Amino acid sequence: METNGRRKSSNVDDRRGMSPKKMGGIGGGIGIIIIIIFTLLSGGDLGDVVTNVVNNSGGTETTEQVAYTPTAEEEELADFVSVVLADTEDIWNKLFQEQGMQYVEPTLVLFTDSVSSACGLQSAAVGPFYCPGDYSLYIDLSFYKELRDQFNAPGDFAMAYVVAHEVGHHVQTLLGTSQEVHAQSGNVSEAAYNEQVKRLELQADYLAGVWAHHVQGMGYLEEGDMEEALVAANAIGDDTLQMEARGYVVPESFTHGTSEQRMRWLKKGYENGTLDGSDTFSIPASQL
Ligand SMILES: [Zn+2]
Repeated sequence: METNGRRKSSNVDDRRGMSPKKMGGIGGGIGIIIIIIFTLLSGGDLGDVVTNVVNNSGGTETTEQVAYTPTAEEEELADFVSVVLADTEDIWNKLFQEQGMQYVEPTLVLFTDSVSSACGLQSAAVGPFYCPGDYSLYIDLSFYKELRDQFNAPGDFAMAYVVAHEVGHHVQTLLGTSQEVHAQSGNVSEAAYNEQVKRLELQADYLAGVWAHHVQGMGYLEEGDMEEALVAANAIGDDTLQMEARGYVVPESFTHGTSEQRMRWLKKGYENGTLDGSDTFSIPASQL
């Protein structure tokens, strides 16, 4: 994908090197004394002490800033995903406008190790995820290496597809589709619910394909890009994943449909380039 000199999104929240830690709450005297000393040393007044104590006692998370120096490769990747996000903004703003709707741009949070979100404290081990509670996509850029080394899905565009898939979940949230599916949890059998979640995931792949269609239309797609995305879609399908002995559950790759289904819907979105054709819910399971 051509990114040289192209617009980067301003909706990137770079939290790399900031590690939220779960705390039992700083209880009692020592914690407060430390906070008072810290507040006075850092030039605050006692009014700040109250604020600090309130912030620290109720909230169970603190953030630790660790010196973080990204490598040149990581910086390049951060720039790359910022351009990808900018493209999704341009494309989805336009497609929503055409339907007489207003697109609300999501935030992309870059983090390392663990991150605090409206969906709770999450570790990088869960893989990239979208949190509807704060309209944000969360990505630890080391997932790029995981795609390349563990899933054998190398290439920038494989990563771009992952970003576009998460943005797809944001689109589904704005359209209310995600809420409709999640509202069924507990009201239908687990198997029926999982089937709906799978269809939601395949639709997110379709929406990633729609994005790729327009990247191509703008002339930024390069030879081999779509193949990289398809290899990634193939690599992170349910059936392939079950063969991976990872030792932890990856929500973003769970109940996503088979590799073949993921590739099919990504391709379909890529060919159509519109929201029409994105209905993964009303077709029989055998035709998914
Ligand atoms: Zn997903």
